[in-house]
Amino acid sequence: MRLFFAIIYSVLIILLVLCGMISRRSKRTVATSVSYLEFSFIVPIVGNLILVLSQNELLSTLGSYTYFIGMDLMAFSLFDFTLSYCNIPWRAHRKKCYVIYAILTLDIIQYFFNPFFGQAFGMEAITVDGSPYYRLVPYFGQTCHRIAVYFAFFTSLGIFLLKAIRVPRIYAEKYYVILFTMIFAGFWQSYYIFSRTPIDRSMVALAVCALLIFYFSLFYRPFRLLDRMLANIASKIPESVFFFDANDRCIWINRNAEKLVELQSDNLDRVQHRLQAMFDDLGEGEDNWSTKQQVGSGKNTRFYSLERHIVTDSRSKKIGSFLNIHDHTEDILNHQREMYEATHDKLTGLFTKEHLFNVIKHRIAIDKDTSYSIAYFDIKDFKMVNDIFGNTAGDNVLVRVANWIKENSRDNWSYGRIGGDAFGVCFPTDTVRLAIVEDKLSKFVISNGTIDQHILLHVGIYHVTDTSIDVSIMFDRAHLAQTSIKNEYNTHIAIYDDKMRDQVLWGQKISAELESAIDQREIVPYLQPIVDNKGNIIGAEALVRWLHPKEGFLPPFTFIPIFEKNGMIADVDLYIWRCACEILASWTGEKEKLFISVNISPKDFYFMDVFAEIDKLVNEFKINPNRLRIEITETVMMTDAESRMAMLKRFRENGYIVEMDDFGSGYSSLNQLKDMPLDVLKIDMKFLSKAEDNMKAETILRNVLRLSSDLGLFSLTEGVETEDQYNMLSQMGCNLFQGYYFAKPMSVSDYEKLCDAQSLNKKSSPRT
Ligand code: C2E
Ligand code: MG
Ligand code: MG
Repeated sequence: MRLFFAIIYSVLIILLVLCGMISRRSKRTVATSVSYLEFSFIVPIVGNLILVLSQNELLSTLGSYTYFIGMDLMAFSLFDFTLSYCNIPWRAHRKKCYVIYAILTLDIIQYFFNPFFGQAFGMEAITVDGSPYYRLVPYFGQTCHRIAVYFAFFTSLGIFLLKAIRVPRIYAEKYYVILFTMIFAGFWQSYYIFSRTPIDRSMVALAVCALLIFYFSLFYRPFRLLDRMLANIASKIPESVFFFDANDRCIWINRNAEKLVELQSDNLDRVQHRLQAMFDDLGEGEDNWSTKQQVGSGKNTRFYSLERHIVTDSRSKKIGSFLNIHDHTEDILNHQREMYEATHDKLTGLFTKEHLFNVIKHRIAIDKDTSYSIAYFDIKDFKMVNDIFGNTAGDNVLVRVANWIKENSRDNWSYGRIGGDAFGVCFPTDTVRLAIVEDKLSKFVISNGTIDQHILLHVGIYHVTDTSIDVSIMFDRAHLAQTSIKNEYNTHIAIYDDKMRDQVLWGQKISAELESAIDQREIVPYLQPIVDNKGNIIGAEALVRWLHPKEGFLPPFTFIPIFEKNGMIADVDLYIWRCACEILASWTGEKEKLFISVNISPKDFYFMDVFAEIDKLVNEFKINPNRLRIEITETVMMTDAESRMAMLKRFRENGYIVEMDDFGSGYSSLNQLKDMPLDVLKIDMKFLSKAEDNMKAETILRNVLRLSSDLGLFSLTEGVETEDQYNMLSQMGCNLFQGYYFAKPMSVSDYEKLCDAQSLNKKSSPRT
């Protein structure tokens, strides 16, 4: 019996040493206090081992000391472990802890006095298993020891109990296990203490308690807690989750899965059946799989992605599986909505520019056998619709135009809104008869029920001959064609040709060169003589020429329309006016009587105060204002007539002579003519050429000349090419003449030579 327990104790000691060492290596926070606890539990067992083995009093007494001091150490480390295991901050309860530590320390100290005073215990010899066994005889000090140890022990028990009650039930388990072991060990121990049975078998309970503490503190994982947590997570995730056992019987589904298959979780047998009814293919077998499926149709279509995962054990044997179904209908619908919004114009519902260009690019690239055309639609004066009728009316026009394009397009056409009032269409060239489109466009009206509003659409078309160019360039070309007719009212369609592109390039080139051309004096005035009815040169018209170093001699029609479009005409005119003043100032003698007429573009008025600029020049060169004649055209009066009239008045009041150029070529208003502050009426040569072979026109010409004299104006006919014309005009009473019959426009020096020759003739003629 004694040997048996000696072996048991020895085994327990070895186990506790091992646990203590393993605890020391553990990195968990509770590990240190666990290792102290394991080692401290060894001490009383060692004491009992000595008691069991010893047969003499001294050794037994030593065993008893070891046992009692071990019990104190054990109570000490149990309390320390309790604080750590139950997460009780030591610092917060420092004073209470000190009381426990002090009581246990005093108890240990009192044992040191026992050999001298014998206050704690004595030894008595009894016989166990037939050999002497020394048993303890407790005195007062021993009672104190029991009180001290029980105090520490019950404090630890109390802490465990409180903790177990307070924490959520799922966590209580780890406290209750240790708590009950401690109570069990405590009872067993008490039994031996108070029954005074010679061999203390409760050491086994103590060791078991230490081993359980070791396991629960360092290795126990609350699987139920994990289960609960995982189940909680799985039940709340947005996917539908189904768990199946090894036989593919459904064992658990989460809340979303319940909704998906419209079943309660207590009716799991029907899950498989429901799933099979919903989805076409629920991949069988032992493999993981995933698939995307569409369920339902039309507005009820839903999009699911399904994933099945096989769960295996450590030997890769299937123990179950789970199915994860994600309903991403909302994502897909949102994506489709976003895609639609990104690719479609909000107002008209047509493709946006970027999307249209992509679609066209793709179409042209894949369909190489078809020849396509690009059409650029523009609404004439759309800005005016917005300004006059408001944005809502403007929007309405855009929607109507978009609908018109939609209705008149075929399935294989692509169209979209490519700007404010611009629309683009790409169509196979052979699907359109332009004459029919032209006819439809001429009849295009928007009706609001009572009033029909004619909308003028101009369309530029580019037949895609070069498929390698960017779609935006194709549209630029179609746009270019459209701009060529933008001021027309009866033509709706223009087709791009390379000349248009060359013209644009030409315009860009000369616009870039203008500034340096003026600096380099490549831009020069040519002078065309103006003669009176006796054939004498009395002045000249300054006509601009560009002596281009590479392009050669450039007449005004090659660049004036371009500069009129981009506003650079103001620079040209200002420069020519300065040259005219310079020339006039340089003339002396007979030539001092000559005048120069300068042209003023209607566009000049947008960029400067024409009167102020000219008057400044005249003052700068100190010339008589009546030597610089001002040529304006009828179009000047078409906008802001009142202020233009006021300006002409200012010219005249300041001594300038104002001429109406190209009279008869535009929309002249005879009514306006009578109020206009003019000196000279310049009659257009085209008007004259028509008059030659047309009796009616001759009558008109005669009457215009009479009208001119009746209004007190001088008349000047330009473009006189023949002697007959000159004679006829003279007879009709025309005062001044200009034309190739007399001289073509010429350089200033040639003009000066011509004038000098005329003066010489005049001087010599009296002698002859
Ligand atoms: P315009 O002011 O009516 O000038 C008269 C045009 O008629 C000149 O053409 C002149 O060369 C041409 N011409 C004169 N006599 C005859 C003739 O007997 N037969 C024919 N067929 N033509 C004749 P040009 O120099 O080519 O100028 C054309 C137009 O360019 C001018 O018409 C004028 O509107 C504009 N222009 C010329 N120089 C300037 C300028 O410095 N500034 C502005 N703003 N416009 C200018
Ligand atoms: Mg002129
Ligand atoms: Mg003219």
